[in-house]
Amino acid sequence: MNYQPILDRIHAAIKPVLGEGKVASYIPELANVRADQFGMAVVDFAGNTYVAGDAQTRFSIQSISKLFALTLAFQREGDSLWSRVGREPSGNPFNSLVQLEREHGIPRNPFINAGALVITDMLASRFVNAENALVDFMRKLSAVNDIGYNRKVAASERSTSSRNAAMAHFMKSFGNMNNKVGDVLDAYCRHCAIEMNCVELAKSACFLANGGVNPWSGETVIDASSAKRLSALMLTCGTYDAAGDFAFRVGLPAKSGVGGGIVAILPGECGICVWSPALEPSGNSHAGSLALEMFTSITGRSIF
Ligand code: GLU
Repeated sequence: MNYQPILDRIHAAIKPVLGEGKVASYIPELANVRADQFGMAVVDFAGNTYVAGDAQTRFSIQSISKLFALTLAFQREGDSLWSRVGREPSGNPFNSLVQLEREHGIPRNPFINAGALVITDMLASRFVNAENALVDFMRKLSAVNDIGYNRKVAASERSTSSRNAAMAHFMKSFGNMNNKVGDVLDAYCRHCAIEMNCVELAKSACFLANGGVNPWSGETVIDASSAKRLSALMLTCGTYDAAGDFAFRVGLPAKSGVGGGIVAILPGECGICVWSPALEPSGNSHAGSLALEMFTSITGRSIF
């Protein structure tokens, strides 16, 4: 399917709303990003790539890293991973502490910060250097060799990470954090500070849409049943506590980040990524959500 005319149409329609919403500012470095940028990419398994706007501009992937960190941890841990992190939507903001006390230090899902910190702890136990392990993984999934993380953004987040530190210490008190909290936070902030563009992220998500197989290398990343399950988690938990509304509007498994990126998959067909830094109050990109909504409305393609 040639998605180019559809992306051109979405790009034209989206222009009036660009910049509406707020760029994340609680990580000081992120506040410096221009709000009205917009990029979109669709990549199918044959490598056909359709783009609009700033699709080649790299941005801070932030929580989108949680999807790939989960995949990498799942490769190593298998189903035992689920004894340390749940699979339910939290219905709370991504950085909330309240459920952790009631639920004995087991985070609701791997896509809220507490869950991603536990996943990062697993990676820190499995790899000598957890941040490099994820960067290498992203290079393989995207077939792009110069992906890395932005040290300034990582340092900016690390210096303001009291809340994430509180969560990690709290989980340690319940026995759900094996490495030093400082080391886990360092790796977590570096994962969030990985920079990629829409094309690279759309390519990286293709394995999930392709039954767990990386189309660029032919390698099986995870088996087809696990790819289905991680995609289901994206649908139910991937877009903050607006996941229900997002599923209603868009109907695709997706993972968003406060850098304004949203990566989505159309199973059996393609990886998709949109980016626009101005966010809705939920933390999802405003223009990005609208663009995905238009994409599924115009094409009639979604998982439903
Ligand atoms: N690095 C961010 C944090 O931990 C990630 C948030 C996000 O993108 O949802 O607060």
